[in-house]
Amino acid sequence: MKNTVTCSQCGAICEYDDHSVWEGNREHEDFLCPKCGNVIGSAFTDLIPIVTVIKKGEKETKNEIIG
Ligand SMILES: [Zn+2]
Repeated sequence: MKNTVTCSQCGAICEYDDHSVWEGNREHEDFLCPKCGNVIGSAFTDLIPIVTVIKKGEKETKNEIIG
C-alpha cells in the first residue's frame, strides 16, 4: 500500500510502500527522508520501506549530509 508523508524538516513530500510479502514476519522499520535524512516515519513491514521523493520540499537544506 502506497502512503505519502511530508518531511517536517525539509518539506519534501515522500511516498513509501509498506507492502509486506510474508505475514507474521513484520517489524517496525524507521525510514528516512531521502533528501535530508530526517526520520519521517515508520512502517510495519518485513522489508525496509522504499522511500521516493515525489515533490521536492520548498525549504532548501543548506547543510549537505556527508557520509
Ligand atoms: Zn527531508
